[in-house]
Amino acid sequence: MTAPTGVLDALKAALGEGGWSQDPDRLAPKLVEWRGRWRGSTPLLALPGDLEQTAAVVRICAQAGVAITPQGGNTGLVNGQIPQGEILLSTERLNRVRDADPSDDVLVVEAGVTLAAVHKAAARIGRRFPLSLASEGSATVGGLISTNAGGVQVLRYGTMRDLVLGIEAVLPDGSVLPGLKRLRKDNTGYDLKHLLIGAEGTLGVVTAAALKLFPVPAGRATALCGLGSAADAVAFLALAKTATGGAVEAFELIGRTGIELAARNLGLRDPFSAPHPWCVLIETAAAEAGAAERLLETALAEGFEAGLLADAVVAQSESQAAALWNLREGQSAAQKPEGVVWKNDISVPVSSIPAFLQAADAAVQALAPGARVAAFGHVGDGNIHYNIAQPPGGDGAAFEALRDAGARAVNDVAASFGGSISAEHGLGAMKPAEAARYKSEAELAAQRAVRAALDPGRIMNPRVLF
Ligand SMILES: Cc1cc2nc3c(=O)[nH]c(=O)nc-3n(C[C@H](O)[C@H](O)[C@H](O)COP(=O)(O)OP(=O)(O)OC[C@H]3O[C@@H](n4cnc5c(N)ncnc54)[C@H](O)[C@@H]3O)c2cc1C
Repeated sequence: MTAPTGVLDALKAALGEGGWSQDPDRLAPKLVEWRGRWRGSTPLLALPGDLEQTAAVVRICAQAGVAITPQGGNTGLVNGQIPQGEILLSTERLNRVRDADPSDDVLVVEAGVTLAAVHKAAARIGRRFPLSLASEGSATVGGLISTNAGGVQVLRYGTMRDLVLGIEAVLPDGSVLPGLKRLRKDNTGYDLKHLLIGAEGTLGVVTAAALKLFPVPAGRATALCGLGSAADAVAFLALAKTATGGAVEAFELIGRTGIELAARNLGLRDPFSAPHPWCVLIETAAAEAGAAERLLETALAEGFEAGLLADAVVAQSESQAAALWNLREGQSAAQKPEGVVWKNDISVPVSSIPAFLQAADAAVQALAPGARVAAFGHVGDGNIHYNIAQPPGGDGAAFEALRDAGARAVNDVAASFGGSISAEHGLGAMKPAEAARYKSEAELAAQRAVRAALDPGRIMNPRVLF
């Protein structure tokens, strides 16, 4: 779909000076995915500075049948934000904090505000926005909403879907949805914000959001535990939740391979003298000073007593806690030097994690004997980043050729446990066909009907979703 010159002229006029660009140097970083995996093109970078300009861009494009790809921080992992000839609508200039209110526990921000800036704005009024992820310096509120992002605290606070009170958006015909409500209760028909959350830019452009804030905990405590099996990890999670009265904020699993790769490739230290098949990073947080530490000690003591834990180290300082977190957050980087790595972002019911791991390991070995499973992730959410590195010294090209078959094998196993093939990254333009294999006809028809009703010309992110 190419944009006629008349449409480009109309867009430039609506956006004004500084509101658009066709400069190749200015466009370049927005046309490539951060790992270099996808590259794109666009006839025009639209940089609306406010709601009215955003609505004008969408209206002009809708009337002319010209497609738009919205982009926030360009940290998405499934090729949803890189245009292939569409108008590229960046939220870069929608970067204002509109309000911060500790009485309503709400922060109203525009779509282009980064997650790191959200954290700072919340802290300025003594509050906290409890979503954290490694891309938070670049990922924006609009992107986080559109991918329904989740991070390491989903266990306690949920995903973006649980953290958004209201959304202001421009719908695919250019009309404005003025939904910046800050209500905790509002049962007055379909809750349209939930359609936009996770829509990956297909149902309109998010321009601003009202986000839920929470009190800042007085303390937190962190430990790394060594365990004999993934089943022990799942059992320890249930025990820890009960023992701490729900104070567990993070519960992250790392397999033996992951610990070894982090040591070899990142120089990080395994704090245990003996190797354990699995490690769990557990973090508690509580309002009262000293309570997080006490609750963590209780959980660990009960874990040892139940025979679930083989060893544990409790961080005695913030720097020790950071060192433990580095082991978890360095997992992707630690895999990189190992050659070709297949990546899967699956989820299954928490109780099915051990059986999933066993069945998926068998499926992978049948396909690529000697491949190394380096699984890690958010056990508390049933979300495993089930990554597989090529056999040591093996043929990278041959392993690469099996990537799709590997994803299919893992996805089939996840689906057999009632799981999802994309737990937190979305589908983008990368996974819709694969996801469609696991959805019923009724579900696909309903998804397509919603899209057709709001965007009959399919101008919003046409390559993404169904
Ligand atoms: C190192 C790293 C770690 C990550 N960790 C996590 C993690 O723990 N959990 C997780 O969930 N994700 C994670 N991600 C993925 C990514 O950061 C999230 O998907 C994030 O929400 C994307 O935000 P963004 O602003 O970069 O969006 P982009 O990448 O720019 O866009 C993502 C999608 O949202 C759409 N979009 C963007 N802005 C808007 C808007 N205003 N209105 C409508 N549609 C819009 C785009 O069209 C695209 O489909 C990680 C990524 C990296 C690079």
